[in-house]
Amino acid sequence: MTAAPAPRPAESAESLAYRSALGVIRGIEPRIADAIGAEIADQRESLKLIASENYASPATLLAMGNWLSDKYAEGTVGHRFYAGCRNVDTVESLAAEHARELFGAAHAYVQPHSGIDANLVAFWSVLAQRVEAPALDRAAVRNVNDLTEEDWAALRRALGDQRMLGMSLDAGGHLTHGFRPNISGKMFEQRSYGTDPETGLLDYDAVRAAAREFRPLILVAGYSAYPRRVNFRIMREIADEVGATLMVDMAHFAGLVAGKVFTGDFDPVPHAQIVTTTTHKSLRGPRGGMVLCDDSLAEYVDRGCPMVLGGPLPHVMAAKAVALAEARQPAFQDYAQRITDNAQSLAEGLLRRGARLVTGGTDNHIVLLDVAGYGLTGRQAESALLDAGIVTNRNSVPRDPNGAWYTSGVRLGTPALTTRGVGAEGMDEVAELIHTVLSRTAPAAAASGKPSKAKYVTEDGVAREVAQRAADLMAKHPLYPEIDLG
Ligand code: PLP
Repeated sequence: MTAAPAPRPAESAESLAYRSALGVIRGIEPRIADAIGAEIADQRESLKLIASENYASPATLLAMGNWLSDKYAEGTVGHRFYAGCRNVDTVESLAAEHARELFGAAHAYVQPHSGIDANLVAFWSVLAQRVEAPALDRAAVRNVNDLTEEDWAALRRALGDQRMLGMSLDAGGHLTHGFRPNISGKMFEQRSYGTDPETGLLDYDAVRAAAREFRPLILVAGYSAYPRRVNFRIMREIADEVGATLMVDMAHFAGLVAGKVFTGDFDPVPHAQIVTTTTHKSLRGPRGGMVLCDDSLAEYVDRGCPMVLGGPLPHVMAAKAVALAEARQPAFQDYAQRITDNAQSLAEGLLRRGARLVTGGTDNHIVLLDVAGYGLTGRQAESALLDAGIVTNRNSVPRDPNGAWYTSGVRLGTPALTTRGVGAEGMDEVAELIHTVLSRTAPAAAASGKPSKAKYVTEDGVAREVAQRAADLMAKHPLYPEIDLG
């Protein structure tokens, strides 16, 4: 007698959803179905240390792929320029409610399509509150359309004549904080504050001195490559002293604020008048942006669309609501704490092996490795690590001699690996793999024979061996174990 075949285990809801969605897409454009399938397979295999990336939950991803996408909904909840928005109103109010509750904010605006857009909404809200509104009052009109041509020209000049103080790029600030290649640098006269040359830490006295001298309209705090916490109580004191509005861009560390790792002086929400964020980094939501603010700015922030944004993306707001609901669960606090614990384990593992870290360590999700200690540029280190299956990105270090393209640093971040369940022991293995590759890689000469900042050579077999070890580590922590890729 032959035994009956063992019943197949029931497929999970996530797995069924994945297969059905791909099947439907495959019927129209199979190459897109293949690219989606290949992307999840790549993500499953690679050891991802990109500090700004994460893995959103299947529930969050599924909330994005649906019919809400087909709706125009310019305006705000209950005040739309289009009919038939009742379901979008439900979605937007829920996302905003979750955001307010999660962060303890007076007001939340969940429409921005990205972090850049959230920052633009914030800048123009402050300009509208502090430059435009007083001009309308002086002219005794309620609307810009009612200004005389002369008053309108004067207002436009005044809007273009404001100042912003933010963190310098090589100290870890972001391009959208007033730098020339970005629209913010074309809008504002900008000055930046850096970090202490000895310790690499933010020097609040230097920020205060710069603020007193420059007297900005907006003081921006927040970063994308600074491995430490910022004391927002002190930043607010500085802003108040010079009459600036404090804006915090918490795009990178929003998950640590949501998960109550950053509390008290290190939680920006009670201190800043306006806080912006992305939703897809440590917060682990869909790709998008968000603005939180106090009551005084709420009416201006709500004008984001059409002030600087196009129609909202209702399907992405739905996914924001799902991700924010997830972040309100107690498990998220545990996740956030593990992000910083893992960053500290990674930092300790690297330091123990002799690596150089900017500021000597971390207290957030970022470890900034100064690869000059290995005799490499950031570009060489990033490429050598990628050959060995380790995905990172090169980054400037303070006063970087190699500039913003080649750089001298590699930025490492732990939100994504933490989502996969990697812990302290795994992070030590990651430190070992990084150190192995970099200590066995050397710069190579360009074809001309001159030293190159891009070319490098890794000892034979090292990349292959490390890639295998990285794959073994990732196999122990599968991404979306509930999804059978088939
Ligand atoms: N602000 C900060 C601090 C960031 O790190 C980033 C992205 O890296 C942004 C804003 C821009 O976000 P997005 O790419 O969603 O526009």
